[in-house]
This record gives sequence, structure tokens and C-alpha cells, in this order.
Amino acid sequence: MKVTSVTAHVLRAPLVEPFAFSQFSYSHREAMLVEIRTDDGLVGWGEAYGPAQLTGTIIKEFLGPLLVGRDPRDVEANWELLYARSIDYGQKGVMVAAISALDIACWDIKARAADQPLYRLLGGAETESIECYATGFYFPQNEPVEVRFEQEARQFLADGFRAMKIKVGLGVERDAELVRHVREVVGPATKLMIDANHAYTPTEAIALGRKLEAADLWWFEEPVSCIDVDAYLEVKNRIMIPLAGGECEATRFGFEPWLRRRAFDYCQPDICACGGITEGMKIAALASLTGIHVTPHAWGSAIGQAAALHFYAARPRQPFTLTADRKLIECDRSENPLRAGIVEAAIEFSQGAWKLPTAAGLGVTVVSEALEPYRVV
Ligand code: MG
Repeated sequence: MKVTSVTAHVLRAPLVEPFAFSQFSYSHREAMLVEIRTDDGLVGWGEAYGPAQLTGTIIKEFLGPLLVGRDPRDVEANWELLYARSIDYGQKGVMVAAISALDIACWDIKARAADQPLYRLLGGAETESIECYATGFYFPQNEPVEVRFEQEARQFLADGFRAMKIKVGLGVERDAELVRHVREVVGPATKLMIDANHAYTPTEAIALGRKLEAADLWWFEEPVSCIDVDAYLEVKNRIMIPLAGGECEATRFGFEPWLRRRAFDYCQPDICACGGITEGMKIAALASLTGIHVTPHAWGSAIGQAAALHFYAARPRQPFTLTADRKLIECDRSENPLRAGIVEAAIEFSQGAWKLPTAAGLGVTVVSEALEPYRVV
């Protein structure tokens, strides 16, 4: 089997209502989807995280042509070629995000060729569905934050979620008030996480963590700078809330110091950014050395979500124990027309859990015409 074409689809979808988090606001969602075609008719799809026009240009002008003529099933050899060819220019960021998209598409083809759902090629799953946590609680522009947070908390409960993640970064006092309010609304049985998107200094993050120790939080995500391992350790050693991080990191080389030094308790590689499934498996192997649970960050389109789900399905419940189950996968509930709107059928979701697809490959099929209203390139 040989790759005959690699196409970058750059998509942009305006939002009905813009929303913000601690770093900036969104008025649209974008995605760069890669479509790989082969000489025996199989087609695979992948997605890159981050600015879609940049990753799309990297695919079109640089990395995509390197795969033409190669066997897409040789995922390891292909990954090494792409990384070796680009390491002089980009060891993480958009270059590795573009490699991630190609790697996911190659795995999609490999699993379709084997007529198996992808998670089975990655080691198999113990369960038929994976519990999700709802990602939402962004800062609205047109109504008080409390009002929106309460409304979303009630909606997530009604949708069957038993875990949800709240955005913080509005200031220590304000965050503490808002999180306590959500805790009152959802009651003690719901798992709550908070995510600062690296908004705070260690001193501020410690202050917020201490104020919220009674709120029984499952984790505190990206409390401080995403490039400062020591800042994470400072926070981790001074609050009693587990830390999560890693969505801005990439490759086994980038994750190694975080994992060796146990800088966080939950490791969150984004499969569309960290180097794809091939590299995500290596990051997970490193994490297992220090008993850190890997749960992927997932904020993409239907393709990115499916890639994260298959990757996570094949991960252990918790390293080396049969008694605890920490498996919870991110389910972004913020507005994004590029999820259900671009595939034949979305992955089945019910009562706060995703059912693992039984179809071959990623288990979702892109409808080409459905991309047209969003196409930039
Ligand atoms: Mg996050």
C-alpha cells in the first residue's frame, strides 16, 4: 500500500457566542484536518492542534510530500522520517502538531486496513465505554459568570456527567467564590476539576489551592507557567490538590523532565499536538515509570476527539492496580460546529460516557461536502 496524496483542509467556523478563558477569547473555532489517500482506495484522517493555516501550510509545503509513495501502515518509520526531517526547525509547537495530524491519519488507515477499531491495534480496551468529564465553564461575554456557571452545571448533570471542569483565572478570590458556588449546585458526589490555563504565579496558585481544599477537587490543571517544572513542584508540594498538566508539551523528549520529576499527578498530552498516537504511546510509557495517570487533553473536531478516545481506551485504569479506576476523558462541551457537523455519525454519547466505536479505524467518517461551508483552504 502506498500513499498517493496528502491534503490539508483548513477549516474555520464562526461562533454564535464568543467565549473567553484566562488567556484570550474565541470568536470562531478552527481545525486543520489531513486527508491521506492510498493506491488501494483506503482513506485516513488526522487533525493538528493550534493555528490551522500554519499547520496546513506545513503539511502542504513541507511534510505532506514526504509521505507520498510510502506505506502509511509503517507508522513508526514514518514518524521517525518526519521528525528527523523537521527537528532542525521545530521540536514542538506547530511542526509537531502537523506531524501529529499525519500520524493519526496513518493509524486510521492502518486500522481500516486491518478492519479493526483503532483502539484494538493500540492494545485493546477493558470496557465498552469511557466515562467523560465535561469541559465548559468558559467566561461568557453577555451575562454574569455565576448565572452561566450555574446553568451549565445543571445542564451537565442533566446530560449525565458525573465530572466537570471549571475554568479559573479571574483572580484568586473571584475563582474561589465561583468554584464554591458550582460545588453547591452540583453537590458532593460530582467530581470537579479546575483549569487556570497557566494564569497564575506559584504564590497565587498556592493561595487558590488552599482556599479550595475543602471543595474536594479532583485536580488543579495548569496552575502555573507551562514551561516551568519547578513552579509546578512548588505548587504541588504546598497544596493538597492533585495537579494536571501537559497540554502545551510535546514529544517524549518534552515530557521526560515533567514525568521524571513527578511535576503533576495527571499527564495530559494532546494527541493532535504531542506527536500523534505513535508519540503519545511513548509518553504514556514514560509516565508509567513514575505511576502518573495519562488522560489526553482533547479540544479538537470530531477527528481529534476520536483519536483521543482510541488512545485513551487502550490505557490502563491506573498504573499497576486493579482496585482504582481513574479513567475520565475530556469531553469539550463548548460551542464547536466542527464536531458533529462534519462526520456521518458522531461517536455515541450517553449518560456522560462515550461508547467505543466498533467500526474500523477512528470510527468516524468525514463527509467531504460538510467541510465546504467552513473551508478557508
Ligand atoms: Mg486545559
